[in-house]
Parts: sequence; C-alpha cells; structure tokens
Amino acid sequence: MKIWYSLYTLKPQAGKSPPRRSQVGALGTSADQVKEDNRNREGALLRILWADGCLGYSDCFPWPEYGDRGVTEELHQLAKGRLSPLLEQSFWLARRDGVARKEKRHLLRKLPRVKNSLLILDVASFNEDLLGDAKRVGFTSAKVKVGNDPDKEFALIDRLIRMLGFTVRLDFNSKGTFDGVQKFLERFQPAIKPFIEYIEDPFPFDPVDWREINRLVPLALDWEWRSVNWERFVVEAPFKVIIIKPARQDVPSAIELMNRHGLRMVITSSLDHPVGIMHAAAVAGEAKKTFPNKLLDCGCFTHLAYQANEFAKLLPRQGPYISETPGYGVGFDEALGKCQWVELAVPKS
Ligand code: MG
Repeated sequence: MKIWYSLYTLKPQAGKSPPRRSQVGALGTSADQVKEDNRNREGALLRILWADGCLGYSDCFPWPEYGDRGVTEELHQLAKGRLSPLLEQSFWLARRDGVARKEKRHLLRKLPRVKNSLLILDVASFNEDLLGDAKRVGFTSAKVKVGNDPDKEFALIDRLIRMLGFTVRLDFNSKGTFDGVQKFLERFQPAIKPFIEYIEDPFPFDPVDWREINRLVPLALDWEWRSVNWERFVVEAPFKVIIIKPARQDVPSAIELMNRHGLRMVITSSLDHPVGIMHAAAVAGEAKKTFPNKLLDCGCFTHLAYQANEFAKLLPRQGPYISETPGYGVGFDEALGKCQWVELAVPKS
C-alpha cells in the first residue's frame, strides 16, 4: 500500500458581513463564534493506492476542539500504521472512491438526489432578501445554530416558519440547559411548534432530561453520540433522529442502530473539504435509495462556509442539492491532479 497526503487550509468566510446573494446557504459568524469558529482549519487530502491497484481519495479533517488530534499528529500516527477512528473512515471512504474510479463511475451516478437544509450559523447575517432567495432556489428546511442570542434567533425562526413555510432544526451544540431550552420553546405559539422538526444536541446527554424534552419536540443526536449507551434503551431512545457524519462514524453500524431503534437519520458533511462533502453526499444518496422514508433533508451543502478553493468552485453556489463534479469517484479529477502530494512512509503490511 502507498499513501500520499496533501495538506490544505480552509479559510472561513469573512462572516461579519452578510453573504452575497449569489451565495445563499452560506454561513456567517457571530461575535461569540468568532473566537471559536472564525479561524483557519487544517486538514489533509489522502491518496491511497492499494495492492490490488485500486487508487482512491478521501479527506482527513480533525476537530481538535472535540478531542481529535491535529492533522499533523494524525499523519504521524498513520505513518506508524496506527489508525484513529477518523482515519478509519478516511480509508473506508477512499476505498469507495477507488472502487468507483476503477468502474469509471461517479459516486453520485444513478443515485436519487438528496435535498439539503439551509445552514444558518449566524442569524444576524441573514436578511429578508437572502431568506427569500433560499426559498426560491428550493430550500424548504433550515438548520439554525442557536444559543447565542435568543431574541434574534426566535425572530428569525418564527419568520422562517411563518413567512416562508420552512421546517426548522435548532442546534444548541450541547450549550443549552434543560430550563433554557424549555423556555426557548415556550416562546413559540402552539401552531408554530410542529414546524420545529427537531432540536439537535440541546445540552449534554442525559437520558432523563433528554426524554423530557423529546416529548415536547423531537431531539436529534449529533456529537452527544459519544455519551450514549445504546444498550440501555430498552423501550425507546430519548431522541428520534440521528445525525450521521460518514467522515467520523461507521455508517453501516449507525444505520443498523437507526433501524433497531426506529429512528430517522440525517447525513451531513463534517464541515470539511469538498472531497469530504462529496463523500457525504454519496453516502446520503445511497441511504436515500435504500431507506427513502428514513432519510430527512441532509446537511451536505456546507462548502460556502469557507472561501472557495479550486474544489469548492466546482460545487453549486446555490442549494439545496450537491451535484456531480467532473471525473469518477468523488470527481474533482483535475483539482486532485494539481494538488501537491507527499508520500507518507508507511510500514510494510
Ligand atoms: Mg450538531
């Protein structure tokens, strides 16, 4: 086996100003998130050649703030032949890419199109025009990061539902509290509440408190996955939806859990490189083909969060669909060809 890597940096959009109208679906950055999110992010593309001649590409995009090792350390470990769960996914995805390349097919070919939700990181960066544009280009659901400015967030969500007929997902990123989430929900009139499709990671996982909120509004499990003991859910899980990130999670076992517990799923990118986005979009397409009634709108339309690189320029600028890019596998053949690849010395297996 031979492995090459190509380091890259993703630069967040200058988030304080509203995204341009041609970029509906982009993320902004609120004052609070600046410290946290508005920094360059490092990752590595991987190019893996297996002994059978299969050559595939994937992404390795760590989130050190969630406990991942930085990309340099990931590569260092890889050179020693040690695979973190993150790298295991990179290998799994690269192999899928390699097989598709061998068969000369794009990974999205013949798969049903999967609609994505509009991602709103900063409510302040969205105005009437942008929301109207989002509806016009076909978005029907929005995911709003909440917990920073409840008044503004409530106003935007209320507008999304009332004026545009969107369904809305709220993501607290585990930063809420039981009381805070309950109070936030009380602000919405009863007729509006059914349009809140779910709340993602309201606060750190606690089966009793989650169950309580799950009775008011369906809950979705994202990063809190790590705190969940699935064996304990004898009757039913205290959430109704799981978020699956193919860049980070074993997909077949996640789907198995979803089926076993009667849940629904959303497949998302890891807010990563377009190669990672395309891999997630392909997994989403396959999930839709196999489980059309279990897959909700997905979260793969995330490339506008960053300044466009050569890869992102090949993805649609308007949502809600990710479509094929030139080439086989995940596509991007020309851009991949232009990357600087460095061979990683790996132990012989
Ligand atoms: Mg989330």
